[in-house]
Amino acid sequence: MNGSNGAHADGVQVITLDNPPVNALSFAYSASLLREIEAAEANPALTTVVIAGAGGIFSGGADVNDFATEPTPETKTVRDVIAAIERGTKTYVAAIDGNALGGGFELALACDYRVGTAKAKLGLPEIKLGLLPGAGGTQRLPRLLGANDALQLMLKGETVKAADAKAKGILDEVVEGSANVVDAAKAYAGKPRNRIAERQAQLGVQGLGLFATPFVVAQAHKMVPPETNGGFAAHKLIDAVQAAIELPFERGLAREARLFEELVRSAPSAALRHVFFGERELSKIPGLPKTEPLAIAKAAVIGGGTMGTGIAITFAEAGIPVIVVETKSEAVEKARETVFGMFKYQVDKGRLTQEEAWTRANSITFEEAYEELGDVDVVVEAVFESMPVKKEVFGKLDALTKPSCILASNTSTLDIDEIASATRRPDKVLGLHFFAPANIMKLLEIVRGKATSAETLTTGIALGKKLRKVGVVSGNAFGFIGNRMLFDYEAQAVELAEEGVPLERIDKVIKRDFGMAMGPFAVADLSGLDVYHFISQSQGGAPLGRVPIIAKLVEQGRLGQKTMKGFFDYDKSVGKGREPIASPDVAALFRELAVAAGVPQRADVTDDEILARCIYPLVNTGAELLRTGIALRPGDIDLVWIYGYGFPPHHGGPMWYADEIGVRNVVAAMERFGWTPDPLLVEIARSGGTIANYSKELAHA
Ligand code: NAD
Repeated sequence: MNGSNGAHADGVQVITLDNPPVNALSFAYSASLLREIEAAEANPALTTVVIAGAGGIFSGGADVNDFATEPTPETKTVRDVIAAIERGTKTYVAAIDGNALGGGFELALACDYRVGTAKAKLGLPEIKLGLLPGAGGTQRLPRLLGANDALQLMLKGETVKAADAKAKGILDEVVEGSANVVDAAKAYAGKPRNRIAERQAQLGVQGLGLFATPFVVAQAHKMVPPETNGGFAAHKLIDAVQAAIELPFERGLAREARLFEELVRSAPSAALRHVFFGERELSKIPGLPKTEPLAIAKAAVIGGGTMGTGIAITFAEAGIPVIVVETKSEAVEKARETVFGMFKYQVDKGRLTQEEAWTRANSITFEEAYEELGDVDVVVEAVFESMPVKKEVFGKLDALTKPSCILASNTSTLDIDEIASATRRPDKVLGLHFFAPANIMKLLEIVRGKATSAETLTTGIALGKKLRKVGVVSGNAFGFIGNRMLFDYEAQAVELAEEGVPLERIDKVIKRDFGMAMGPFAVADLSGLDVYHFISQSQGGAPLGRVPIIAKLVEQGRLGQKTMKGFFDYDKSVGKGREPIASPDVAALFRELAVAAGVPQRADVTDDEILARCIYPLVNTGAELLRTGIALRPGDIDLVWIYGYGFPPHHGGPMWYADEIGVRNVVAAMERFGWTPDPLLVEIARSGGTIANYSKELAHA
């Protein structure tokens, strides 16, 4: 039910959007809203309708679930509600408190006047789901702001805060306090209608008349990033705005609807919606008894190196004071520099005031000893990757922290259960695996040991949210989800190089053509080849690939970016020393080792083979992680790869991508390569199903 207010002695009716939690304009809710608008239109006692939102939010927009629902002729959408307003005779005023996003903002744009509270935030984020605003936003916003500003807003998908919205003319008035916004909106009663649709769209570029439309449009298309970087929806959005400039309103609206339909049915949008839903699933852990998370008011980080410093900054940014225990004074100096440098950067960028930055930076304190940890609620250990060192640290932490304190390790590869065994509270131990740089990367793997209690896991998940991370729960297995898959991916890249495929060609196919944030060899150089070498040594010494290339490179001091030489060369004058440059020495070394090992040299490797051989190991290992319960859902694996390793979101993650290609085709390719496909994939291929469906069925079984 809409929380309508029937009293309208003053000729005003207030319709309150009330569909918790975000007042989404679902098909069902739009139908009831439409009935209210029609009833108001039929009421001669009314001159004005105020549309407000319950619960401190106007509306979060359409229900994303509906995008995958085939509408019937009876289906009502926010478009129908807006059309009823457009043809209506009353004056409409939007009273906006909190978010008015997507369809919610479009509803407000259909009104004659918009009043907001200081907390109002407006935006059209559809592009983030590979869509365009499909309820008139692309037609009305250019008529309100000028095409140029409207386009910028929609292409970025960012929100505009109240003051800015007022300055731009999106809001007619900003009032203090949620209580006053409806009254302020009511005061517009009796004002004439002022429909945006009746205006003419302007380009909004100073000094350019309408004649310059083709130029501006062409420029806009040129600035769109490539498809591999999310550009696919942007071109259609620009087409829609072009229609707003060139066509009468109704025809522009029809064009927008057609473009929207194309996008909503497109593979990239389906993939992005999968990511959107996957994030909302994350904290649902099947079978986890419901418990309240422990409060985390104070934290500690052990080790102030690369990771420890980034983790400390993450806590400080979330407003949680943190003690960093670091034994080396040089490390403390470096950590301090990093912390202050980072907060200064935030001030320079205008994201924080001096005072905020100062407060946060000072909420990180450095200690040499563990004695100050008596009152912390959680500790994240980030010392060297060595089991004896970690066990010693956990033994000390167990003795010196309060009994309720949660003890977490940031280990990349070590066994959480063994670490926990160094304490008398294994139920309070878990892995919190951050990714470098920890204050930037969104991914957090939350590793559940065999003794980790429901309360500890629940607290870990809640903490991840507080730290604004995408927290994915993983079982305790070598490399957890992400790194375990990474090693198999890197191994195939190395095997391709052994067969004579240039490293830079492999990186180009994976990065530029497919859209990963980096190619496999650039990633290895960034992490450090010594790290790979160390891990492979600790796993029994088997090399990554068929020849000991990494051992040899490390022997030559080619450790990666940090030594300006790894798989690639680096040069300070090229891309600040971060741009990979092909190395003839490395190519020669690959050839020498491969020929000695009898690896055939091939000249017939296609780009398709490169892509398949790099990405399908992710699918195969991902399937194994699912089958063995290390990963809970295919979507979890997808999020790990999108947020931790730069997998292109418009392909939805490796498991979603396998469904896009078809599991049967993936399995057939694996067999052609001479691999053993995981039994889970074989089973899905035989039944002709998808990984997504198979897992849903499993979850329901
Ligand atoms: P690092 O060498 O930069 O930092 C480790 C720090 O711990 C050093 O400053 C060292 O002085 C300090 N330290 C060692 N023993 C200590 C002790 N007993 N008490 C207090 N401080 C001590 O290493 P890093 O890259 O930050 O890695 C730390 C951990 O994070 C490792 O377990 C690693 O596997 C994991 N990790 C690293 C990355 C990465 O990309 N670097 C990513 C995820 C996880």
